[in-house]
Formats: sequence, C-alpha cells, structure tokens
Amino acid sequence: MFCMRRSKKWHSRIASIVSFAILLASKSACMAATDPGMDLRYDITFDSASALAGKKFHWAAMPVNIQYNSCTVTGCSASIENSVLRGIDFWQNNAAIFGEIQTQFAASGDIAVTYKVSPGGNVIASCGATVGQYTSGGYVLMRPLTLTIYTNFSGFSVTDAQYQFVSAHEMGHCLGLWSHSPQEGDLMYAYLTNNIAYSARDVNTLRYLYSQASDVGSYPPQSGSNLSSDIKVIGTIESTPLLNH
Ligand SMILES: [Zn+2]
Repeated sequence: MFCMRRSKKWHSRIASIVSFAILLASKSACMAATDPGMDLRYDITFDSASALAGKKFHWAAMPVNIQYNSCTVTGCSASIENSVLRGIDFWQNNAAIFGEIQTQFAASGDIAVTYKVSPGGNVIASCGATVGQYTSGGYVLMRPLTLTIYTNFSGFSVTDAQYQFVSAHEMGHCLGLWSHSPQEGDLMYAYLTNNIAYSARDVNTLRYLYSQASDVGSYPPQSGSNLSSDIKVIGTIESTPLLNH
C-alpha cells in the first residue's frame, strides 16, 4: 500500500512534533482507506482500448514536477495562460483535501504542459503518454506525460473559466484519474463546464486510487540504474478527450 503524503522539512522542535502528528494522522487515514463503492467514486483504471486497459496508475513520489511551456501558438492570450496556471495549481491549492498530491513547477517535469492550435473537431485538451514495457513484463509511462491545451477552435470558443476547469481536469488525468466520471459536478466529468470545485466523489476517488498499489510505473525510474536496454516502447495512451457539448 502506498501513502504519498510527504511532510515538509521543518526545523524547529515544535514544528517537528506537529509534523509528526500530521504524519501519523495521514498514515492512519491512508491505512483506513477502503473502497467507498462505485456510488461514491468513479472508475480509477485506464479506459482506453490499450495494453493498459483495466490497470491503474499513480505517481510513486511527491512532489510531481510540472514543466510549464508558455503559450506561443495562434489564439494564445495572457488570460488563457493565467486560467490554465490556476487550473494546474488547483491540486496544490487543495493539498489539505487532496493530501496525497503535491505538485510544483520545475525545469524538467513528470508532466509537461504545452499548447497547440486545435486541429479541428471539439477536443479541448488531453493528457497523453508514451507507454513502455520491461522485458520482465511490467508497464511504465514515459516521463514526461504530456498535458496538451488547444487554442483557436473553429466554431466555438472556450472561456477563461472553462480553461481553468480544463487544466484542472487534465491534471487529474495526468495524476492518475484516467477515467471520466458520468456525473456532472465532478471534476472528472467528461464534458466541458466551468465548475472548478471538487466534489466528494473526486476526493473519494483520488484517495482510493492513491491508497492502492499502482499497476504501472513511470520511466525513467525515480532511482536505480539505467535500464534502457530492458525496456521498449509499445505505443501511446491518451485520456478520453474532454469534449465541448
Ligand atoms: Zn478528461
């Protein structure tokens, strides 16, 4: 069982005691994690028709590093970027709720955020990854995962508030919530909204996911020797697109 909450390094004795208490509370909460049932959460497995279908993924270490690449394509604006950055920060800003998740911006990332001009259609954003497999059989997602935000749509527009929802939602995919929720009001609902609040079902689902062993690792591994000869690329995976209605 994994419990990913990580306490900061505090240097005063009092802070250490507080930190230890938080760690104990975190561990007991983690150990108590049981499946709340499908009425109170949604699916946590890959829903794509791929080698990973039915498996689950979450990060093995915190914080998750986010490499943010500024928007330079047609349709960019400062307000879009500000909205996307707020959406990315949704998870860190709600760390008191989603305690298993810590994120930070970094020069090289576990997740890379990029912007592209919409190729047409109604796909607004996605999270994708190259999939690798060890000769021993285990699967990995190659770092960085790619969080793509599209601009310059044909026939419709996306508001700043919707962009904030979009980036928080896609971060949910990249953090391991790979499936969509069928219920409007959940952050991982399959259709575009401007609802940026988390629901009890979102909290239940993420906590349950991070209380389970991950079936899929990430590559390069957090530590250890270079295993490049032991691994091969077998394809790619992409979250089911978030759609405009
Ligand atoms: Zn989605």
